[in-house]
Amino acid sequence: MAWRATILTLFPEMFPGVLGASLPGKALKDGVWNLDALDIRSFATDKHSTVDDTPYGGGAGMVMRADVIDAAIRGAEQKFGKPSRKIYMSPRGKVFNQALAKELAAEESLLILCGRYEGVDQRIIDTQNLEEISIGDFVLAGGEVAAMAMLEACVRLIPGVLGNAETLGEESFEFSLLEYPQYTRPAVWNGMEVPEVLVSGHHENVRKWRREQAEKLTAERRPDLWDKFKR
Ligand code: SAH
Repeated sequence: MAWRATILTLFPEMFPGVLGASLPGKALKDGVWNLDALDIRSFATDKHSTVDDTPYGGGAGMVMRADVIDAAIRGAEQKFGKPSRKIYMSPRGKVFNQALAKELAAEESLLILCGRYEGVDQRIIDTQNLEEISIGDFVLAGGEVAAMAMLEACVRLIPGVLGNAETLGEESFEFSLLEYPQYTRPAVWNGMEVPEVLVSGHHENVRKWRREQAEKLTAERRPDLWDKFKR
């Protein structure tokens, strides 16, 4: 069975969005992976299709209702089966990274809840045991872009999504090093040549040069990664 992501959102029309383009988009069309966005509002039960309400205790903004989200999760499970992981995109969550991308790409299916407004009633996080994941220390207006960013990182790791499996091996973060500089034609552009070693045809020297560049960049820009790498 192909890898599956089911999104719960108030804005299903935002999907597949960026995930419908380029190689992930082609793989989606070819059924290498599946994506469904369900409208949380369609699970509301009152005549105004209310999905949110004011926070107990006061304060600004609206909170998404636990009962409506619970119905949406159950609806998704009925349609697509129990997911391997249930995730709530949340600035309070564990910060997403490449290791987590690999872990999620190795699962069979994800259910991803996207919040809006001030977020969701805590009781839905607790009773459904939602795993909170953040894409970084900033606050978005909703979980949709966060879900897309996370999914794009996962999906490109699924076998058959990228044309060339080798491209996965050498990238930033795979070994906790940032990637070396890349060059393509033309060989001279704006008076600037590409580094000579890259046109030398000497594979071992190319490998060494790239490795040195990657280490230098990582040490300069990301002392945190460099520390982990050296250990
Ligand atoms: N009041 C909340 C912020 C709500 S932002 C707080 O201070 O924590 C509205 C929604 O956007 C959230 O429910 C979440 O789903 C999403 N969101 C915002 N920032 C995010 C981030 N950094 N990572 C993942 N999701 C995020």
